[in-house]
Amino acid sequence: MVVTSGTKRRMINTDGNIVQATTDITKNESENPDNKGQNLHWAETGYPVMDHFYTIQGEGVHTGRAAYFIRLAGCDVGCWWCDVKESWDATDHPVIAAGSLVRAARQSGAGIVVITGGEPLLHDLEPLTTGLHEVGLQVHIETSGSSPMSGDFDWITLSPKRFKEPLEVIFQLADELKVVVLTRKDLQWAEKNARKCSRNVKKLLQPEWDTPKSIPLIVEYVKEYPEWAISLQTHKFLNVP
Ligand code: SF4
Repeated sequence: MVVTSGTKRRMINTDGNIVQATTDITKNESENPDNKGQNLHWAETGYPVMDHFYTIQGEGVHTGRAAYFIRLAGCDVGCWWCDVKESWDATDHPVIAAGSLVRAARQSGAGIVVITGGEPLLHDLEPLTTGLHEVGLQVHIETSGSSPMSGDFDWITLSPKRFKEPLEVIFQLADELKVVVLTRKDLQWAEKNARKCSRNVKKLLQPEWDTPKSIPLIVEYVKEYPEWAISLQTHKFLNVP
């Protein structure tokens, strides 16, 4: 059974990059917490995980909301300013079963789970999102959109990167377009991506943390084009992960 926990739900076909189950969990750990013994197909799927933790969403439309973050390892995008470079090599991180991740997220008390990375769409997210929905959690993703879509999401944040451009399919699925800005060129890049998105997409410009000179550029741009808004990395001000 899939619980409808958001205002809209989309089923997205898996289109490649399937991670075969590699798991070291016991049968008991792999059980769906609410349906013991059922649906083990999703619970036993393993993911390389850099970190998973309960915190506050610091960025984007859902800023300030409590959320359980699952940071999957592996990224092939290569942003030079990336602040999680340690996530790039998936083999540096342990493989954890979806059943264990779902259990941890549910036990945290969170209502929202954010799947991020690295680049989370390097992995088949259908098993993990199925499990999270089965226990009634809303599932968000933050992605560069540069790998094939998989999984079922209540909120999709597209954060396109010039180093590996998004695949076309993601644009009409995105709820939120969040572009990291370092220079004026990134504003042109933001507009290029926005033209491909749906009319209802929330358009956000976010300064790169270590490039404060981009802030006045963004402020002036949003004043001139108020269909855009500013996203800040508020978790860094709050000093939470
Ligand atoms: S897509 Fe994200 S994780 Fe990958 S290099 Fe860029 S900022 Fe880092």
